[in-house]
Amino acid sequence: MNIVIAGAGIAGLSAAEAARKANPNCEVVLFSRERQRPYFRPRLPEVVSGEVSADGIYVHPEEWYRQPGLEFRLGESLVEVNPESRQVRGSLGSRLLYDRLLIATGAVPFLPDAAKNFTLPGVYPLRTLLDASDLHYAAKGARTAVLLGSGLLGLEAGHALTRMGLTVHVLEMSNRILPFQTTPAGSRRLQRLLEAKSFVFHLEAEAERAEGAERIERVVLKSGAGINCDLMAVSAGIAPVTELAAALGLKTERGIVVDQYLATTAPGVYAAGDCAQTPDRRGGMWAIARAEGLIAGHNAVTEDPASRKPYVPVAPSAVLKVAGIDLTSVGNIDPEGKLPSAEYDGDDLYRKVVTSPAGQLAGFTVLGGRAGVAELTRAVGKKTLPPDVMEDLKGPGFDFRRLDALPS
Ligand SMILES: Cc1cc2nc3c(=O)[nH]c(=O)nc-3n(C[C@H](O)[C@H](O)[C@H](O)COP(=O)(O)OP(=O)(O)OC[C@H]3O[C@@H](n4cnc5c(N)ncnc54)[C@H](O)[C@@H]3O)c2cc1C
Repeated sequence: MNIVIAGAGIAGLSAAEAARKANPNCEVVLFSRERQRPYFRPRLPEVVSGEVSADGIYVHPEEWYRQPGLEFRLGESLVEVNPESRQVRGSLGSRLLYDRLLIATGAVPFLPDAAKNFTLPGVYPLRTLLDASDLHYAAKGARTAVLLGSGLLGLEAGHALTRMGLTVHVLEMSNRILPFQTTPAGSRRLQRLLEAKSFVFHLEAEAERAEGAERIERVVLKSGAGINCDLMAVSAGIAPVTELAAALGLKTERGIVVDQYLATTAPGVYAAGDCAQTPDRRGGMWAIARAEGLIAGHNAVTEDPASRKPYVPVAPSAVLKVAGIDLTSVGNIDPEGKLPSAEYDGDDLYRKVVTSPAGQLAGFTVLGGRAGVAELTRAVGKKTLPPDVMEDLKGPGFDFRRLDALPS
């Protein structure tokens, strides 16, 4: 049996590993549009700031890709697929037949109109190693950047730029930063901490257009205000890459629709990672793409249907990796304040722990430290917090070993 995998991000790579493990006789052909071997995408902000070079973030050494049963087509996109003849064609001319096809083509940055419509130099989306290196060189000698999008990835990219000495103006459409990852109190505190690190926030602000004679010089907001800048970084969400799915006539909504086995609507075709839409509709995260890739790769080459594995959703978690500012949010943090919660808002630490009406731990957010993060993460969805624990969580100095001691 052979399996052709389109895309060598973490989903495709994990699928290749799982396929070889589940069926050591299967041949895996891995197509990679990028010319660099797979790397840890979440570490790109470190490449932007110049803290690490590309060599420091590869997932496996070069020799790994020379193992028997694996054919790695680096720098070759899978451009055509014929479901009747089960044949694929690569951009460098290779043609092969497949028994199973796995689509792990990931996503590309979503570009708001202000970025898309400006065709001169100075606009930098961040998705690939090449993007990171372009942004790094553009930031050398620059003084001011405008950042479209203030999600976690955007703030990390912005932080990389501040480390290079730039002032970063962040445009946020909401009236607070990270509205989905933290609560209003957490947002206010985080904003203060970031302002002390050369960030300037423009809330309820949206870019109308970029202007400049030969390259970007200014971003004009919908309010009419203008911000002079040397570059514009864009981290405003992602769009799944679904061209192959269209050619195969697969069902797509917010991504390629897959069932709990990561199977698409066509027989023998699987999808995983940022390009896929699982029944729980979560994605855009490294751990999720890896977990999906492992399941999809296993199921694709497993001959016995009884040995297929279902995908168990990974609890969404958000961690802001900015030195000196620890923000972790896991599960449902209930920003609207509708569920029972225990909130602590101290000088150096902010914490909110949320439960279901029945008392089961639903999620939490902690800003300003890592204390209790591991214990809380282990308990999310598994433990019921009694009233005395909830009461004590409203104060400092909670002994988190108490959570481990609670029954699951
Ligand atoms: C700057 C940045 C920081 C991030 N930080 C975090 C973080 O802290 N925590 C977290 O959980 N997540 C983070 N993420 C998100 C995480 O990296 C992604 O969710 C994850 O990498 C998705 O993996 P994937 O394999 O599905 O897709 P991708 O990594 O996008 O890989 C898909 C690959 O397929 C290739 N491809 C596309 N079409 C074809 C084709 N036709 N033929 C061959 N190849 C093709 C693409 O070029 C790409 O190389 C971050 C992302 C970015 C960009």
